[in-house]
Amino acid sequence: MPVDVKQDPAQALRERGLRVTKQRVSVLSALAVAPHSVAESVIGAVRNDVGRVSTQAVYDVLNTLTARGMVRRIQPAGSAARYELHTDDNHHHLVCRGCGAVVDVDCATRTAPCLDTSDLDRRSPGFVVDEAEVTFWGLCDTCSSRPTFGRPTDTEHHTRRRS
Ligand SMILES: [Zn+2]
Ligand SMILES: [Zn+2]
Ligand SMILES: [Zn+2]
Repeated sequence: MPVDVKQDPAQALRERGLRVTKQRVSVLSALAVAPHSVAESVIGAVRNDVGRVSTQAVYDVLNTLTARGMVRRIQPAGSAARYELHTDDNHHHLVCRGCGAVVDVDCATRTAPCLDTSDLDRRSPGFVVDEAEVTFWGLCDTCSSRPTFGRPTDTEHHTRRRS
């Protein structure tokens, strides 16, 4: 059984053959506490934790951990990239158009790639699909009850005043 990243980030790094550094451990701990963080808040958390560290250093850690599958980057269209620990639960995200809040939702099918890909196989023979990135868009409870966002009609949507 691989170690739970949340329990022991250092050991989880070792298991993946990655060097254990204070910054890496700190980034993983920050994401364990606050999933779906934007890079800025990860940088803030790491600085609180280990002291002086450059912005670039934290980005480097995020990129490395993302490339090695320990961190997942989600980038809802039109908003900043967010980071979370990469778990194998194949969950998806609800994103609020109003405030950008991100919420986890379980995959309905539980197993990637979630969708019937037989049609894709026909269109692109030989292409091996292993994942579908599913983002559900809408308005959260708070935003949907706000007059500014509350179910805009099409015209309101396109001419929304700046307030
Ligand atoms: Zn919202
Ligand atoms: Zn998530
Ligand atoms: Zn799914």
